[in-house]
Amino acid sequence: MNVFSHPEFDNHEHLSFFCDPETGLKAIVAIHNTSRGPALGGCRMFPYASDEEALRDVLRLSRGMTYKSALANLDLGGGKSVIIGDPRKHKSEALLESMGKFLEQLGGQYIAAEDSGTSVPDLKVMGRHTNHVAGIKEHIGFDGLPSNGDPSPATAYGTYVGLRMAVQHGLGRSDLEGLKVAVQGIGNVGFRLARHLKDAGAKLWVYDIHQDQMQRAVDELGATPVSAEEILTLPVDVVAPCAMGAVLNDRSIPKLQAKVVAGAANNQLEHPEHDAALLKRGILYAPDFVINAGGIIDVFHERTDHDHNQVRAHVESIGDTLDEIFRRSSREGLPTGTIANLLAEERFRHTPAQPRHTKGTLSKVS
Ligand code: NAD
Repeated sequence: MNVFSHPEFDNHEHLSFFCDPETGLKAIVAIHNTSRGPALGGCRMFPYASDEEALRDVLRLSRGMTYKSALANLDLGGGKSVIIGDPRKHKSEALLESMGKFLEQLGGQYIAAEDSGTSVPDLKVMGRHTNHVAGIKEHIGFDGLPSNGDPSPATAYGTYVGLRMAVQHGLGRSDLEGLKVAVQGIGNVGFRLARHLKDAGAKLWVYDIHQDQMQRAVDELGATPVSAEEILTLPVDVVAPCAMGAVLNDRSIPKLQAKVVAGAANNQLEHPEHDAALLKRGILYAPDFVINAGGIIDVFHERTDHDHNQVRAHVESIGDTLDEIFRRSSREGLPTGTIANLLAEERFRHTPAQPRHTKGTLSKVS
């Protein structure tokens, strides 16, 4: 297994491989870049078929967090961790405690949050041995309501703000009255996004693989249910992917009728070149790692003393970042995802690396 010459290595600063035979823990922590601050990213537990697959995933995800945090104007770097194993079969308190002890050894250069296969209670178990876990404290959220650490409300609100900005640039309008939006995936984020849109006067079309999720949007939001095949190709103004990744691909892009794609799902482009394919078709794409950053902004502020109005303003700054990206994209004739990457690189490459001893604390960041 290659590491330094791995295709996804991309000059990662630090990689740790943890093994604890007593609890069965096998984990990798990847820290891509800490020039803006300690690396915050999810801890994923998944039954990877091979060590190679786990390494590839953690490297790819960790790099993505550097870009996401830089674009969200957070004083955070990018990192991620993976635990190799089936969460339904191999997860135990002892294994999670062991992970917590390993995280502690990293001295706060990496801060873990929940991800697929791990939950807030799991992170709390890790937190018995380290302070370097996030998203676990009950606090007042960006909306002034008590939050148990679930980032979905902030993600949905940030996506809503970003979608409005995309509509302004892509369709030349600032109100959403009668705007036609197709939402794919009516889960934690998708339902909340749909509710914001409905409150602003938009008309909704929805699809979810789970009938009960879809029915909730029909009953509570007056949405029109459609099929899996229809959801991305309807004659609507906006498509909002809020389920899984790789939905923008060679098959879907030629059939899109919407002029704007703005949704929360991670990794919507199947391949990086689909960014250019959307531009070529005249479709404005709000890069997913910009528009869905509300959650990480919320998690970050759990550790600051900012009040909810400041946090809300921070989430709303997603709109300003997209404004900058859309303007630059139209000026330079480059796809929006390409511009977002360039902007992120300007932000994290031009920030001087922090001295080692100051890494690992969020309390100094404002
Ligand atoms: P969720 O699991 O609550 O909701 C996802 C929904 O999509 C579920 O209702 C599921 O039934 C549905 N779904 C799955 N496959 C589908 C398909 N093929 N077609 C239609 N629907 C399908 O997850 P979530 O927290 O709402 O996250 C949604 C997306 O947003 C994910 O891609 C996630 O990675 C991304 N995201 C979420 C957050 C957050 O704060 N929750 C933050 C950043 C990004």
